Amino acid sequence: MIKTLCVFCGSSMGKGTAYAGSAEKLAEYLTFNNINLVYGGANVGLMRILADTMLASGGKVIGVMPKSLVEREVAHTGLTEMHIVEGMQERKALMADLSDAFIALPGAYGTLDELFEVLTWNQLGIIHKPIGLVNINGFFNSLLLMLDQAVEEKFLRPEHRNMLLVDDDFERLFHKLKTYRPVIAEKWIERLKEGKI
Ligand code: AMP
Repeated sequence: MIKTLCVFCGSSMGKGTAYAGSAEKLAEYLTFNNINLVYGGANVGLMRILADTMLASGGKVIGVMPKSLVEREVAHTGLTEMHIVEGMQERKALMADLSDAFIALPGAYGTLDELFEVLTWNQLGIIHKPIGLVNINGFFNSLLLMLDQAVEEKFLRPEHRNMLLVDDDFERLFHKLKTYRPVIAEKWIERLKEGKI
């Protein structure tokens, strides 16, 4: 059951209106389905659109932000809850603890760092939570091709590639998140140690 969703997304708005429109749609979907939002706590870019739309529609929004970013005055001051932490690693760990699943919308280094961190934690069995990617306008197509290439070249196991659930439609993506079955890491690590992979 997904009660609290963590969203990673750009501190920029992106080109055109499609990305902001998608952040608004996601916020409305979450409020309508009574799902709480955890996000980076900023008042900029897609993060701001997401938080503001959710708050305006009566949703619960939890921000997690390192001190340094609060001091740079990018913190959203109207959230339901705000957690101020020491640094970026503590932030990612708390965002993961507070959430039942993750979604990434378009973004840049920050978004990709957060996405790949939780994918790696899932792969190692540190967490067992569904992770989705909203592929608006095919924004992530080349990233997905890169992952396929990593499978092709035997750097990434197909079951780990498939941990990343992709769709451009929220209804379908949430269905995938809710029916996700965690990959058991122990077996994979044992086979890796035995040199069978
Ligand atoms: P980016 O994709 O590089 O724009 O970074 C966005 C992601 O990184 C968000 O999910 C945030 O958690 C984090 N982040 C990056 N820049 C900021 C910022 N100025 N304020 C708060 N969080 C940020």
